[in-house]
Amino acid sequence: MKTRILVKEGAYKLAKAGVMDAKIDAEELFCFAADCDKVFLFLRKEEEVAKDVEEKFLELIERRAQRIPLQHIIGEQEFMGFKFKVTPDVLIPRQDTETLVTEAAQTIRQEFEKSMEQLKKASLFRKFKGLDGYEVLDLCCGSGAIAISLSKMLETVSVSASDISLPALKLAAENAVLNRVGVEFYQGDMFKAITEGRQVTAEGPRAKAKGTKVKQFDMIVSNPPYIKSNVIPMLQEEVKDHEPMEALDGGLDGLDYYRTIVKEAYQWLKPGGWLLMEIGHDQGEDLRKMIKDSCHYTPATVIKDLPGKDRVVKCRAL
Ligand code: GLN
Repeated sequence: MKTRILVKEGAYKLAKAGVMDAKIDAEELFCFAADCDKVFLFLRKEEEVAKDVEEKFLELIERRAQRIPLQHIIGEQEFMGFKFKVTPDVLIPRQDTETLVTEAAQTIRQEFEKSMEQLKKASLFRKFKGLDGYEVLDLCCGSGAIAISLSKMLETVSVSASDISLPALKLAAENAVLNRVGVEFYQGDMFKAITEGRQVTAEGPRAKAKGTKVKQFDMIVSNPPYIKSNVIPMLQEEVKDHEPMEALDGGLDGLDYYRTIVKEAYQWLKPGGWLLMEIGHDQGEDLRKMIKDSCHYTPATVIKDLPGKDRVVKCRAL
């Protein structure tokens, strides 16, 4: 069969099964089966497909038609231009979250520029301190996409990351190796990871729980679970049946994890340290109020994502 016809047949099967981007997914799966890129697929679309590639492709289509996420089938997802391994143990990195990473990176760059300005007249020692050792914590890091991207984008920044899930942390540590960055991963329930966390590497957890090396950070970033419990049954099958519930469910009003973060983050931030969190599109006002009522932070700014929806809140510890 010709490539073009086979891919079309695959796309048809996916569309019939209710898959949203059927054509794109069929093309991706063909490239995965044939171990080629999209350009190759386009150039060879009138050519006959080898029997083994055809069989493999149809098998993959069968799995995708069962609404298994594309990323679980091909085993990876791109985020901020970097590649991340994904498994059912972690939330698949979303484009929405690139807003958080972009904003965090911009904020850090501005901090650096400001300290450079201040240090122009200062001694060499202070100059050194100003640029090195900017400490970031990614709370609820999942696949490590946020922490690793920040580390790739800003080489002088030290990044620690934590999660409650050991399998997630193992994968995150593998992703750090894959992307050649030195992020440190700690297992623990929210802020307990700072004081009592066990360090986890790609080989597994280290013996003793000692907490992170750093006890106060210049910035804490987080994409915690924030979906309302009663909305979960309405999510796409790919999400509700295949992604980890503990990475999605934010409790009755979706705000459970923010309550913990807002209540505690300032204690783990240096004065003036930044707190940036991803939020659901309708949670901006709730978060602004929660942050104001806590009296431990500057007024929050709400930042929009590319489609123009509220996506990130940002404030500083007082
Ligand atoms: N944005 C994700 C979704 O809609 C949710 C991510 C989260 O809960 N942190 O599936």
